[in-house]
Amino acid sequence: MTAGEGAASGVIMGDPGDRGRFGEFGGRFVPESLVPACMELEAAFRAAWADPAFRDELTSTLASYGGRPTPVTECPRLSAELGVRVLLKREDLAHTGSHKINNVVGQALLARRMGKTRLVAETGAGQHGVATATAAARYGMACVVYMGEVDTARQELNVFRMELLGAEVRPVTSGSRTLKDAVNEALRDWVATVEDTHYCLGSVMGPHPYPWIVRELQRVVGDEARQQCRAILGGADPDVVVACVGGGSNAAGTFAGFADATSSALVGVEAAGGAAMAKGIPGVLHGMRSNLMQDEAGQILEAESISAGLDYPGIGPEHAHLAAIGRARYETATDAEVLEAFQLLSRTEGIIPALESAHALAWVARAARSGDELVRSGSTVLVTLSGRGDKDVAQVRELLA
Ligand SMILES: *Cc1c(COP(=O)(O)O)cnc(C)c1O
Repeated sequence: MTAGEGAASGVIMGDPGDRGRFGEFGGRFVPESLVPACMELEAAFRAAWADPAFRDELTSTLASYGGRPTPVTECPRLSAELGVRVLLKREDLAHTGSHKINNVVGQALLARRMGKTRLVAETGAGQHGVATATAAARYGMACVVYMGEVDTARQELNVFRMELLGAEVRPVTSGSRTLKDAVNEALRDWVATVEDTHYCLGSVMGPHPYPWIVRELQRVVGDEARQQCRAILGGADPDVVVACVGGGSNAAGTFAGFADATSSALVGVEAAGGAAMAKGIPGVLHGMRSNLMQDEAGQILEAESISAGLDYPGIGPEHAHLAAIGRARYETATDAEVLEAFQLLSRTEGIIPALESAHALAWVARAARSGDELVRSGSTVLVTLSGRGDKDVAQVRELLA
């Protein structure tokens, strides 16, 4: 496929072309000084992704180090309780406890192939920072993680984890001192250091080629799940495929595997307090055009939810496009529903989900109980369990006290 063919030919979740457009969303809205770095990265990824040797090394690393393939698990007791057949794609069982390992190992291998020796990353709750520090340690690369000063105080344990892994955490004191500002600092670092540095961006957001690269690196989640579901369902695809959405990488990777499964509805679930699809309006932030939480003056609003990993005020541009063309639907879950789903899965299946992943489960529970048209009695629902809940247990204990 040549550049642009996917977008032009109407292939859903194909190659977005050299302008990185998903319909009216995406693009590369960056200062002149960043354009060469983005173009170098795009060319390098295009070549690597077409190179069987690169793909083989990624696959074997994700197997021997990352714990792939992760299983799909039937949930008989949860299914009985909800009246729908629930299957879970178990990213909680991947190394570091979430899907983030797929992205960071891929980008670290790409950086090494480009001759770069240093990774920079942004992090909000700290999870992508920890993942990047993990990959940097594995490949002996220097690693600097930008983290809003407010977040470094809220997430002390993750700061320690990153330091343990050999990374340097730089607190960001500009703006609201949170994730949004950390992205800006990481971009600034990259412009100045691009000779030896790769910016390892954490989700399907930012300027082209990042939304495309991260979706392709997470596609393994959906590709594996499609095959595994077929084996379980006698060749059929699930009726509904559900994933939680922060920036949207675990959802994009999951959806990519089912994009052409016309009998599978795709549902992304955002935190009610950070619902860029439900409450956002189109605008430009961090180099991309997408749906953003903003006030009438265009000021970016802070997202708020019990799950720090879903606190991004925007959503990846491809999700805005999938909604616009009607291929995927976006829903929200409230903190109260998420807490209930967190306990429900723990109690019925012996799996403690990440609070982020509990958003997807919370929507399934509500839809099943309310008789939503997508989740009729007897439907088969695949939920991507993006991560494990150990990190959230202390917080949930306090919230329930
Ligand atoms: C980071 C994270 C998310 C949110 O990121 P996406 O890019 O939307 O996938 C969701 N779940 C877990 C467990 C995470 O660590």
